[in-house]
Amino acid sequence: MKAAVLHGPNDIRVEELEIPALEPDEILVKVMATGICGSDLPRVLGDAAHHYPIVLGHEFAGTVERVGGGVTRVKTGDRVVGVPLKPCRKCEDCRSGHFAQCKHYSFIGSRVNGSWAEYVALPESNAIPFGEEISFEEAALVEPSAVALHALQLIGFQGGEHVAVLGGGNIGLLVLQWARILGAREVTVFDIDEERLSTARQLGADHTVNTLRPGFEDDWKRLTAGKGFGIVMETAGSDVTMRLSFELAANKAKVCFVGTPVRELTFSHKQFELMNRKEFTLTGSWMSYSAPFPGKEWELTLHFLRKGLLNLKGIVFRQFDLDGINDAFDLYRQPGAVKGKILLLNR
Ligand SMILES: [Zn+2]
Ligand SMILES: [Zn+2]
Repeated sequence: MKAAVLHGPNDIRVEELEIPALEPDEILVKVMATGICGSDLPRVLGDAAHHYPIVLGHEFAGTVERVGGGVTRVKTGDRVVGVPLKPCRKCEDCRSGHFAQCKHYSFIGSRVNGSWAEYVALPESNAIPFGEEISFEEAALVEPSAVALHALQLIGFQGGEHVAVLGGGNIGLLVLQWARILGAREVTVFDIDEERLSTARQLGADHTVNTLRPGFEDDWKRLTAGKGFGIVMETAGSDVTMRLSFELAANKAKVCFVGTPVRELTFSHKQFELMNRKEFTLTGSWMSYSAPFPGKEWELTLHFLRKGLLNLKGIVFRQFDLDGINDAFDLYRQPGAVKGKILLLNR
């Protein structure tokens, strides 16, 4: 089969690999669409890969080509979304339903070969069937949608609040959509890129704020009558937005860090003191899982896709054939050139 194999930093080669052999509980999925995630960038452009050679790719959907002898639920020909986390299911965290906190996990597309290939093997418990009404391109984005929903569920979001979303990247645009579906009073998206902010407005943002604009603080203070936001969702993982989230928080707010920091993070004592003064709650969010595995984040994504209330096509920036994967990464090498999700298709 064809696969995009990462051999080292900046070294992806599309080459022939053996089709993966199946364990009895596993299925072989012919990948139809697969996403490039922000977390893949340091693996490809830097040295963050778990090992080499490896096939990355953990956001994917396709059709079931073959099933192992012990598979009971999934059938050949089913259209399925792939779930990348393989928790041990034995440790205390797993038994408590905290699969993302499992220390003995494996992960399709970071620890074992993933979906930037014609075929990928996964346990049947990691496959969610879906119908013809959802496209493979949309289904490949169920994972990042589940990440966004998980964060809002984690902080107990119940609607009615003005939500600030920091970062208009893929996760930010998905948090925006989920905040609206779950009944946000209003959603304001913050970013430094006008094109991303324009996409945010198309996807339903009530307000957008360009934080490169001098005096942008006046904008959000006006929008919240000086009070700040009851819910602050940080999705960029940048030190600038992490500090800004402390400024944006209203008294007694909920602040959630969804973005993964990639640099040293420093707060002045005055900035940090805002947490004391405002008595806001700061929470971190990790991945997209809850019990029963993989969690309602996944099922709700498929449900609201069917309802037409979740627009996953709206976050797609470009689509490439798997053969064109290096063209996709050439775009990532140009700072600011990628304005949304890039999908790889097997056509
Ligand atoms: Zn990801
Ligand atoms: Zn475990």
